[in-house]
Amino acid sequence: MAGLDPRDEICRVGRSLFERGYTHGSTGNISVRLEDGWILTPTNVSLGELTPERLSVLASDGRHVSGDPPTKEAVLHQAVYAARPDAGAIIHLHSTHSVAVSCLCDIATDDVLPPLTAYYVMRVGRLPLVPFHPPGAASLAAAVGALAASNRTMLLAHHGPIVAGTSLGEAMTAVEELEETARLYLLLQGRNYRSLSADDVARLHEAFPS
Ligand code: ZN
Repeated sequence: MAGLDPRDEICRVGRSLFERGYTHGSTGNISVRLEDGWILTPTNVSLGELTPERLSVLASDGRHVSGDPPTKEAVLHQAVYAARPDAGAIIHLHSTHSVAVSCLCDIATDDVLPPLTAYYVMRVGRLPLVPFHPPGAASLAAAVGALAASNRTMLLAHHGPIVAGTSLGEAMTAVEELEETARLYLLLQGRNYRSLSADDVARLHEAFPS
């Protein structure tokens, strides 16, 4: 997607995710980093109905510069950009299966999902659970920021995933892979299943270094 206007890219990705049921209502938000700030989806707008001219522009410090008022979850994006110099884009969704997994009692909070498939290992890798804080709260942004330096993907408990990518395309494929793996994990509940072994995972990292 190199060369595309990031505003058009955000609208296209938002519509695609919304139309395929990855997020609902006016939930979810998408941002792309600029040289001197970032573009973010506005508050109270469906990802299926974004328009380039209404997207919010923020300065690096989170100050609203132009466009519609940003989502109140802007603080999450700011925390991830501050912690990850490599992050070029961020997607946060309230995707159903990922949220369902975040509500389970017996998940490992340092790495929620097992390595079920090769593409999950390559595109998501580790997935820590961020403890519950109200959406938009400074305490939630602080918790995300603390984990973001060493994790490009996190799962907010009772809320949904937040994923950073070097590009918007990379963030999109990672958040889709996460949601589909959460779905697989729920399908496997109550069954005897095998994850990839530590050796399988090591061979994947060797073959596809990130
Ligand atoms: Zn949210």
